[in-house]
Amino acid sequence: MRAVRILGPEQLVVDADAPEPELQSSTDAIVEVTKSAICGADLFPYHGHTPGFESGTIPGHEWTGVVREVGKEVRNLSPGQRVVNASMISDGSCTHCRASRPMQCENRALFGYSGVYERLEGGQADLVRAPGADRSLWPIPDGVSDDDAVFVADMLPTGLSAVRRGGVSIGDVVVVLGCGTVGLMAIMLAGRIAGTVIAVDSIEDRRKLAADLGATTASPESAADAVAQATGGLGADVVIEAAGAVPALDSAFALARGRGTVCVVGAHFEPDYELDAGRMFEGELTLRFAMGDPLNDREMLLSMIAAGKLSPGRLISHEFSLDEAPKAYELFDRREASKVVLAP
Ligand SMILES: [Zn+2]
Repeated sequence: MRAVRILGPEQLVVDADAPEPELQSSTDAIVEVTKSAICGADLFPYHGHTPGFESGTIPGHEWTGVVREVGKEVRNLSPGQRVVNASMISDGSCTHCRASRPMQCENRALFGYSGVYERLEGGQADLVRAPGADRSLWPIPDGVSDDDAVFVADMLPTGLSAVRRGGVSIGDVVVVLGCGTVGLMAIMLAGRIAGTVIAVDSIEDRRKLAADLGATTASPESAADAVAQATGGLGADVVIEAAGAVPALDSAFALARGRGTVCVVGAHFEPDYELDAGRMFEGELTLRFAMGDPLNDREMLLSMIAAGKLSPGRLISHEFSLDEAPKAYELFDRREASKVVLAP
């Protein structure tokens, strides 16, 4: 089968002779991939910025497909069924899982993201093995397209986590720093309850997408003025940092009001970030981090999509074949695409 592999910094190849995955456990499933998204988080190993990343790993933690084969203990899935994955696998039995915190599972692993977690091949391939298939896969309802469903693997639940863990409430002024896909998902969801959503990005095309979702927009340079204007100089109730960048994290603290909340959903790997404890204390700020929780939120989100209340798929700007993956990564890396999917 064909599979994308990251061999080293900026060394991404399409392996035309990758071995087909096989069932390794009676709870596994094998899935024929239909759509597989490239995530901003894939750019960290692509640039060699993921500590311990194993050369040759197949990336891809957001995908849809059709079940080809299931192990004999898989109860809820059968061959031929359309499914979407959950970005992270979890065992369902540890203390965290039993308390509905699967993203903190003691045996968690992200598809296609070795090093940080145990190696688990991802879905940027013709076929992918899904361990614990009854948890790691979910049927896509009839009437929901693969393009919409692929957002339920990670991006849409992550946007939802940002809004929830940020404590966004009715009428709030919410700032979203970074209008990549997760930022746009947060804008889409926060906009349903917030009073004002201010979307901040340095790239005009991304600000345009945020404006189409109903946000007020600002460049990083004009963000402070925009927030001051919207809040009478007070600062934002909630600042969502969806850029995964140190300058954005720095400015998040500056933009929050006294007793405001900064919620970070951008990926961070800096062990030496200098937190301004003085600013945190005098402002009585709350700082929270959030990952998406597809396992707990996918049914509700798929229902909203099926009911026509959310249509994340319209944010896909480019679709490429698996063979064009190197080109797709380069384009996405240049931030010339809002969302790129590979269609094996
Ligand atoms: Zn667990």
